[in-house]
Amino acid sequence: MSDPSCGQPLGIFGGTFDPIHFGHLRLAEEATEALDLAGIRWIPAGRPALRRPPMASARDRLAMVGLATSDNLRFEVDSCEVDTDAPSYSVSTLERLRRDDHCGPLRPLVLLVGADAFAGLADWYRWEALFELAHVAVAHRPGFPIQPERLPPLLAECLRDRLCAQPELLASSPSGRIVVFAMTPLAISATHIRDLLARHRSVRYLLPESVIGHIRRENLYLEC
Ligand code: ATP
Repeated sequence: MSDPSCGQPLGIFGGTFDPIHFGHLRLAEEATEALDLAGIRWIPAGRPALRRPPMASARDRLAMVGLATSDNLRFEVDSCEVDTDAPSYSVSTLERLRRDDHCGPLRPLVLLVGADAFAGLADWYRWEALFELAHVAVAHRPGFPIQPERLPPLLAECLRDRLCAQPELLASSPSGRIVVFAMTPLAISATHIRDLLARHRSVRYLLPESVIGHIRRENLYLEC
């Protein structure tokens, strides 16, 4: 399991990003520091498998993620899930990354999720295979306490077996561990932002101005 030549872990951050907001950006920034990541690869979902279709098109959501992350040299945006009509499955995306020269089979990959997403992990397509492909880092999120006793039994068992209290160990293997990290609590959600926009209320300071500019130019989220 231990291989010191594995290299600095790369964070993988998937999501609907409908739209991207400061909760996402702080999660990525704080994960980079807390977990000593080389950087973050943002992967907007083209066609999320487990939720109703996003309000904004995949292209708009990709553009907004690009605008929000462009000034951070450690962030890169990957359009692989947007470039296909197939449903977006994290396990397929990670398999593709493992085949890719940039990552290869040994590079530690860390899939970033908020606590709400982690609680639903057992519904994801081939979720147990995720741990053969990546570590999973779970960020605290206001309103979504991490309560093992409330998780589906298989996921609770997986958390118990894989939980690792030392983030520096993520660099010593390609995949398989779970770490939990605290981030600045930000009770921001895309749902709330869409609701404000539909009611013509201000969304300033919840998401970057560049993203608000795109939303205004393209007349996005005028309805809930
Ligand atoms: P929606 O309200 O449409 O469900 P969202 O705000 O939860 O959207 P997503 O794109 O679904 O955003 O989230 C992508 C990832 O970011 C998920 O793993 C989610 O848990 C995490 N996340 C989103 N907002 C926050 C936040 N404020 N704090 C911590 N994690 C967050």
